[in-house]
Amino acid sequence: MRDILGQKRARRILENAIKQEKIPHFFIFVGPNGVGKVSMAKEFAMALNCIATDKPCRNCNMCLSIINNKNPDFILINNETIGIAQTRELREIAFLSPISGRYRVFVIENAENLTLPSANSLLKVLEEPPSSSIFIFTVKDLSNILKTIVSRALVVPFSPVKRDIIVSILVEKGCPEDTAVEISYLSEGNVEKAIEIFESGNLERKIVSYLDIESLESPDMVLDTISISLRDSIIRLAGGDERFIISKSHRGIVNGNRLENLIENFFFIQEIKILEESNSDWRLALALLYKELEVR
Ligand SMILES: [Zn+2]
Repeated sequence: MRDILGQKRARRILENAIKQEKIPHFFIFVGPNGVGKVSMAKEFAMALNCIATDKPCRNCNMCLSIINNKNPDFILINNETIGIAQTRELREIAFLSPISGRYRVFVIENAENLTLPSANSLLKVLEEPPSSSIFIFTVKDLSNILKTIVSRALVVPFSPVKRDIIVSILVEKGCPEDTAVEISYLSEGNVEKAIEIFESGNLERKIVSYLDIESLESPDMVLDTISISLRDSIIRLAGGDERFIISKSHRGIVNGNRLENLIENFFFIQEIKILEESNSDWRLALALLYKELEVR
């Protein structure tokens, strides 16, 4: 199998799973968005069903139909909510023999979206999975998945994508290297987010004015931008090498000439992120950060 977006560990776990006498029938792929979980599921489905000796060959009918999303036995579900009617249908299909290959692979993307009744209904299949069906859940973390479900699965961890891989993907899409490096810091290892930032073309407008803080839905992008600018200011103030400066476009967003003050605010950013994660009011804290750093 190929490494998808540098996910060597996940690839190795899956390759080993295939080599086992009894292939596990239930996997949970865990990791942030945009790190190649669904692509890896495809790669795995190809490796399971490919008819060539060197699997997956990416050339046989099986491989090609999976690559082109035309294989009836590769079933990808990515609804906002996954209700009981759908899981019942899945259970029924799971007990039928695959149409074209050896294994039917069900991928349930963002399995956090399973309602409790549908999770319980799937659990029945996962407890005694039909021999030709393989289930893959993709989730951001395991905390929202029933423990009884997790305990049945082979958990495959995915890491944030390395910055150099993101840079090369963006450059290939025509992004200038300077900008690609900057976006790679903003995207936190999420390729989808990186491409979105590049395609939206508004890297320079990620900062809102003080008065617009109220209307922000999430502080994430603003905080990421401020933190890069802050990081650059700290490097400059500490007399660091210009080569380590990430952002050319964020020059001058953050003001302030005391190193301790800048470093303190660097930690303040993390606190605001925690406020957001716990659904607390982060706007007041963000407004304070703007004042502290005289953000322009
Ligand atoms: Zn093949």
